[in-house]
Amino acid sequence: MTTDSRKIRLIMDLRNAGVTDTRVLAAIEKIPREVFVEEAFLDQAYANQALPIHCGQTISQPFIVGLMTQALELTDRHKVLEVGTGSGYQASILSRLVRRVYTVERHRDLLTTAEKRFAALNLHNLTTLCGDGYKGWPAQAPFDRILVTAAARLVPPDLVAQLSDEGGIMVLPVGDAAGLHQEVIRVRKEGTQFKSERLFPVRFVPLVEGVPKDKGPERKQT
Ligand code: SAH
Repeated sequence: MTTDSRKIRLIMDLRNAGVTDTRVLAAIEKIPREVFVEEAFLDQAYANQALPIHCGQTISQPFIVGLMTQALELTDRHKVLEVGTGSGYQASILSRLVRRVYTVERHRDLLTTAEKRFAALNLHNLTTLCGDGYKGWPAQAPFDRILVTAAARLVPPDLVAQLSDEGGIMVLPVGDAAGLHQEVIRVRKEGTQFKSERLFPVRFVPLVEGVPKDKGPERKQT
């Protein structure tokens, strides 16, 4: 099967599975997932499954990327924070849908690879930071939307604080580190009021506080 026909089949599967937002589907169709997977898994780039990347992490399943992106209710005016850049795939999808994406990753190696991919794909509305995304990115706050792509045990308070109080939305997996009981939560912030909804069960790698030893936080603008 050709890449194009695999891609078309994936888009149809996503639509059947509830990803109905046409802007989100168009972004998934446009961003080449094969650029973000490791060479050994190239033949599975358009399979609807998570795949291993370096540093013991994973690139999320396309279905989950679609549902979480859709849950953010994005417009092209939004400024969005992503926590957990990983391969850079989810950030690239966001970059096609919103004004500006800020993405934070604690592993320098993963971030460097992701930055090269953004440049190769001519995505210029992304800004990256190597650091602890549990603390968000205070210097750039507030954000209209926040997407966390690693599972937190509880909703991180700093991220709630950095969410716009004029209808800000945060989507994040919450649950145990082993991934046995995790679900995606959507938090809406209106002034000092919060509303939170449980969306669907997932299995993500854990959100780990701090950065790996010997690699201090470092900032890079792209
Ligand atoms: N969005 C990614 C999937 C990433 S997997 C993609 O599209 O490929 C989760 C990522 O979160 C991993 O790369 C992991 O290193 C990162 N992560 C975990 N805890 C973090 C933290 N506190 N700050 C920043 N990144 C974190």
